Amino acid sequence: MADTDKFKKVIAHAKEYGFVFQSSEIYDGLSAVYDYGQNGSELKDNIKRDWKDSMVRLHENIVGIDSAIFMHPTVWKASGHVGAFNDPLIDNKDSKKRYRADVLIEDFIEKINIKINKEIDKAKKRFGDSFDEKQFRATNNRVLERQKKIDENLSRFKKAVSENNLAEIKQIIIDNEITCPVSGSKNWTDVRQFNLMFDTKLGSVSEDADKIYLRPETAQGIFVNYLNVQKTGRMKLPFGIAQIGKAFRNEIVARQFIFRMREFEQMEMQFFIRPGEEDKWFDYWKNLRMQWHYILGLGKDNYRFHDHENLAHYAKAATDIEFNFPFGFKELEGIHSRTDFDLSQHQKFSGKKLQYFDSETNSSYVPYVIETSIGVDRMFLAVLSTAFTEEMIEKEDGKTEIRTVLRIPPALSPVKAAILPLVKKDGLPEKAGEVLNLLKYDFNCQYEEKDSIGKRYRRQDAIGTPFCITIDHKTLKDNTVTLRYRDSMKQDRIKIDDLPLQIDSEVNFKNLFKQLSV
Ligand code: ATP
Repeated sequence: MADTDKFKKVIAHAKEYGFVFQSSEIYDGLSAVYDYGQNGSELKDNIKRDWKDSMVRLHENIVGIDSAIFMHPTVWKASGHVGAFNDPLIDNKDSKKRYRADVLIEDFIEKINIKINKEIDKAKKRFGDSFDEKQFRATNNRVLERQKKIDENLSRFKKAVSENNLAEIKQIIIDNEITCPVSGSKNWTDVRQFNLMFDTKLGSVSEDADKIYLRPETAQGIFVNYLNVQKTGRMKLPFGIAQIGKAFRNEIVARQFIFRMREFEQMEMQFFIRPGEEDKWFDYWKNLRMQWHYILGLGKDNYRFHDHENLAHYAKAATDIEFNFPFGFKELEGIHSRTDFDLSQHQKFSGKKLQYFDSETNSSYVPYVIETSIGVDRMFLAVLSTAFTEEMIEKEDGKTEIRTVLRIPPALSPVKAAILPLVKKDGLPEKAGEVLNLLKYDFNCQYEEKDSIGKRYRRQDAIGTPFCITIDHKTLKDNTVTLRYRDSMKQDRIKIDDLPLQIDSEVNFKNLFKQLSV
């Protein structure tokens, strides 16, 4: 299936099965804003729990907070968002479509990269085991030429960004003959800066009220509470503060479903450390975060690191964890070594000391910070798009049909077990009710008695339920049920009393967390 087809199917499936709806759909929707339905909100909660527990429960030195969306306007001056949280935008005069100039350039570079990789794949096939990629990259003329083009453009772009030279950014687009994906033309406007923060007024009389912002990231709520948490929690370095919450950005180009939204949710953790230890902790978090992704089982090949060429002036190092979304590898999570930039800025703007007294060295200093930042919605899309599978299966009557199944990691599945009486009579619904009562306190269960058992299995497959439990006439005699596994469609006869353990062994986060080397 072509990736664009798959992506369309995933979006349609997300709607049909109550995962994601367009916001305000009955009013024709609101662009780049989405609502999560009955199954989507469960999946989203499970993703958040997976992240938060892996941070706060597994690390004695990480605590969670929940700070407000509205913050004092000076916060955003100190953080640099008022002055510099801009995207360079450019319009195509023919299609009237608006783009982020940096994204156009990045996509152009990625296309060259893809060509290089194709060249390498071809050579790999030709030379077999004796193939030496490093040597090939260093000697093959076509690869060298393309790599040169990438390097030249990247360094030009980096320089233009650091000098805020918008004319030069446009020139890079012109020189590389980058065209509008919609009109195919090179008829571009100038590049302009566009601030991404939404503002509003505080107070009931708007004339007198101060302009405040909807936070564009949750991290600043952590920085301004650094001292509160450190003092009241008697935290010693190194320690972390984790938070999950909404963030808002007036994205110029909002497309690709829930990948780029104007209202979204972030899971961020700031890890406060001694200056000088930043490289060690950057590596620690880089590895641990990648492990967290790997153990979910979405496929290691679907992830890669992308180190930033373009470091912010305060950053020592930054890397993205990119995921292979249906539209290609894109940023899922960022890991940043931020020095003491944020706390020092808040110290300067607030006039309050934000220092740490280190009793070991008998000195006071502003801690350094390593940040991990991931979007809940992008993680949701990574899970959903990878889980979505269509497979041809043979039915009992020998005919074939397509089974649509969401192979969601069981710990994240919205519903863990479906409880299905074979028929709506003979005391089976009552017996099924007993099974539901046994399981519902530990697991999110769904009771269904409508339609044939086959249809009910398909509906559960389509929302990713790992277990279906069928109650039949034999159950009344011997207290056993049929347990059907989503992925293999295998069926076991199992005692009702054994159900809790069996389900728990697959859906408990514990099984994932034990694989993390924390
Ligand atoms: P991008 O380059 O894709 O715009 P970013 O570098 O601006 O992302 P960060 O500021 O590092 O993103 O935000 C941290 C994380 O928040 C991202 O890795 C992503 O998962 C998520 N995120 C950022 N912007 C959005 C958005 N508009 N919609 C959904 N998730 C987002």
